[in-house]
Amino acid sequence: MNDSKKSSQVSGFYKMPIKKRVEFVKKYANLTNEEEKLFSSCLDLETADRMIENVLGTFELPLGIAVNFKINGKDYLVPMTIEESSVVAAASNAAKIARIQGGFTTECTDPLMIGQMQVVKIDDVAKAAQSIMNHKKELLELANAQDKILVKFGGGAKDLEVRILDSPLGKMIVAHIIVDVRDAMGANAVNTMCEALAPMVEELTGGKVRLKILSNLADKRIVKAKAVFDKEKMGGEKIVDAFIQSYILASIDPYRAATHNKGIMNGIDSVIIATGNDFRAIEAGAHAYASRNGQYTSLSTYYKDKNGNLVGELEIPMAVGIVGGAGNIHPKARLCKKILGIKTAQELAEIVASVGLAQNFAAVFALSTVGIQKGHMSLHAKNIAVMAGASGDLIEKIANQLIKEGNIKLDRAKEIFNEIK
Ligand code: NAD
Repeated sequence: MNDSKKSSQVSGFYKMPIKKRVEFVKKYANLTNEEEKLFSSCLDLETADRMIENVLGTFELPLGIAVNFKINGKDYLVPMTIEESSVVAAASNAAKIARIQGGFTTECTDPLMIGQMQVVKIDDVAKAAQSIMNHKKELLELANAQDKILVKFGGGAKDLEVRILDSPLGKMIVAHIIVDVRDAMGANAVNTMCEALAPMVEELTGGKVRLKILSNLADKRIVKAKAVFDKEKMGGEKIVDAFIQSYILASIDPYRAATHNKGIMNGIDSVIIATGNDFRAIEAGAHAYASRNGQYTSLSTYYKDKNGNLVGELEIPMAVGIVGGAGNIHPKARLCKKILGIKTAQELAEIVASVGLAQNFAAVFALSTVGIQKGHMSLHAKNIAVMAGASGDLIEKIANQLIKEGNIKLDRAKEIFNEIK
């Protein structure tokens, strides 16, 4: 399909049988027959055995598609891998509302990662720190000699910073090497550089380099996503006000902020996993960034614009790659990247942040109006029906009955199952 003709806006996608959904995505993303087959296949054991140790098998999670996303004027179908019901539906609904006012807009920094070298056992930390800075050029050259490919693509070590820290063991130095990792997540690239620099740093400082590893607080690799959510579609300005009241609690209270940010990560992790990226790295970076001013707070902010519409903004570190790591090895991760049609890691970061904002909007919108349990439990009803022993057509039948009765409980599902049987 021609790029300009592609629209991710599909009504009733959730009602289509799986086969029809696959056909739609195949056509949208120009997938081959081989790629189409991947949707219903498992990771082969040989590949799994190469990825981790002591492999016994593979562990499957559902892969869904969020529809309706328009980001910086371009349409995207977004693959999401997650075990929790209602997340994909919520993202799609939020993207539909955001579309009314033009969709998501994003911006992001260069893909700069920080590598840390901890230097201990130094007699004069100020002199040692100065000595490192005096040899910045040589250190950066040595770092860049480790990754010619990265340098060829315009990346590589760009800067060096030195911090002096007080600790219970006395003063120590932490030298930060700032590396532009281009389209990689960058952990291996940065760690290799840090290890290569350690002997020279020891020579320059007279100390001992202990830790040599990247920081997951990737606060030089920030993405921002913004969207305007239409007040009429939300149900009027009173609902916008209710939304902002709900959001405010996350901005002042860590207990609420943790749950609020978890909602953001529902969207983010789903895309991170689908594209074979490191979700622990993203989680660690997100929560550390949420505490950057000394108190853990919301990663998103909301306010009303002059027309009374709701404006949402999300700002988050985003260490994602489209080359290297597991995303290069796992066939489904490669497939998901093809569906997204991404050309750079920054483009992926911008999509991920938009999905995080969409997810966050959907959760707070539901919480400040009907509550999340109504939608959540309706979707959960099918799981309950399966847990009660249902299969095939019975799942839908029992789930519908549970929803109709407003009693989505396992004991009731078992009763209905036994009655029907
Ligand atoms: P990688 O080493 O597999 O790939 C990156 C390399 O690919 C670059 O160094 C470069 O040589 C090459 N490359 C080719 N084309 C490129 C392009 N266009 N842009 C950039 N580089 C290009 O992977 P990585 O991204 O360095 O490391 C990611 C992996 O490290 C992940 O699997 C992650 O789980 C793991 N890891 C994470 C941590 C952590 O987060 N604390 C620590 C260790 C390892």
